[in-house]
Amino acid sequence: MACIELENLAHSYLVNPTQPWQWALKKMNMTWRQGGAYALLGPSGCGKTTLLNVISGLVKPSHGRILFDGRDVSQVSTEERNIAQVFQFPVIYDTMTVAENLAFPLRNRGVGKGETAARVKQVAHMLGLEPLMSRRAKGLTADLKQKVSLGRGLVRADVEAILFDEPLTVIDPHLKWLLRAQIRRVHAETDVTMIYVTHDQTEALTFADQVVVMYQGEVVQVGTPQQLFDEPAHTFVGYFIGSPGMNVLPARIDGDRAHVGSHVVTLRSGLPQTAPAGDYEIGIRPEHLRLTRGGAGLPVRVRRFDDIGRVKIVHCDLDGLPISAVIDEDEGVPADSAVLVPDPTRIHVYYQSCKVA
Ligand code: ATP
Repeated sequence: MACIELENLAHSYLVNPTQPWQWALKKMNMTWRQGGAYALLGPSGCGKTTLLNVISGLVKPSHGRILFDGRDVSQVSTEERNIAQVFQFPVIYDTMTVAENLAFPLRNRGVGKGETAARVKQVAHMLGLEPLMSRRAKGLTADLKQKVSLGRGLVRADVEAILFDEPLTVIDPHLKWLLRAQIRRVHAETDVTMIYVTHDQTEALTFADQVVVMYQGEVVQVGTPQQLFDEPAHTFVGYFIGSPGMNVLPARIDGDRAHVGSHVVTLRSGLPQTAPAGDYEIGIRPEHLRLTRGGAGLPVRVRRFDDIGRVKIVHCDLDGLPISAVIDEDEGVPADSAVLVPDPTRIHVYYQSCKVA
């Protein structure tokens, strides 16, 4: 089991990239703690799979180094890196039985018969594959094949890390929760470093101790689910984490006041002395806006609301800018005009998408 460090790592699939967007991974430095349960979260095309494949050795990075416990493995093959990887679609041998498939990674590494049998039994039990052990993989459904694939990833006890690339995509929604919980249990029992790629925030937040959020080839924040919600370091994190996402409004900052168009919002403090001049944005989570019928605040038009049970999501319009608020289920919603009052302690200020205050 290893601590994985990325040192000045960057990757482009082009030989001579000239534009920033031509880098699938922009320069990054990062440490994945030994025994950590990480989710790698971001939208399609942000570089998650590339990063995973760089760590496993399937892709050689254009720049930088990868260290496992301080040892440079940048030029080392996937096999020598001793990593287990589970892909989005099943990677199994159709002609082998389920039991043979599960045993294969162990047999391949010369693990003894007794130990192999014990591990295979344990993993099969965990994934509910016991009744299928003697069945050929060929006839199995896509769900079951992926379960076997997952089992192959989990069966070895001696791996440096297990990398999962959207492993539950083809799995039935009911089973997803169960399997994710089982992967977590394996993590708790073995303390192996796990990196789990997903574009689904619920999946990321329920799996990981630490969520690594990627956007356009960059890691924009690493944090606990609570940190990502409370202190989004980048406007994208605010938007991507939370449902609905954080409201982001263009603003001019003057001392401890943010001017949004002709309206003023008071901040908890002014900008740091070193803050650059220019255009800013403020971010306010819908949960941190109070809806009133009048008084000081941001005057809005109410467009519609969604009653989702415990709360209502009220969609409004602030001089043409969309802004939403989350209110209690039993609160009334004005038919037309209303005022949104932000909690001054929960307003974030961003410059070029990055948080400054
Ligand atoms: P998804 O969730 O859709 O799988 P992702 O976040 O995993 O996306 P990557 O697959 O790593 O993103 O892709 C990052 C960028 O690199 C994208 O612009 C993609 O088009 C490009 N890319 C990925 N693989 C290759 C490849 N083999 N050759 C060229 N470009 C590639």
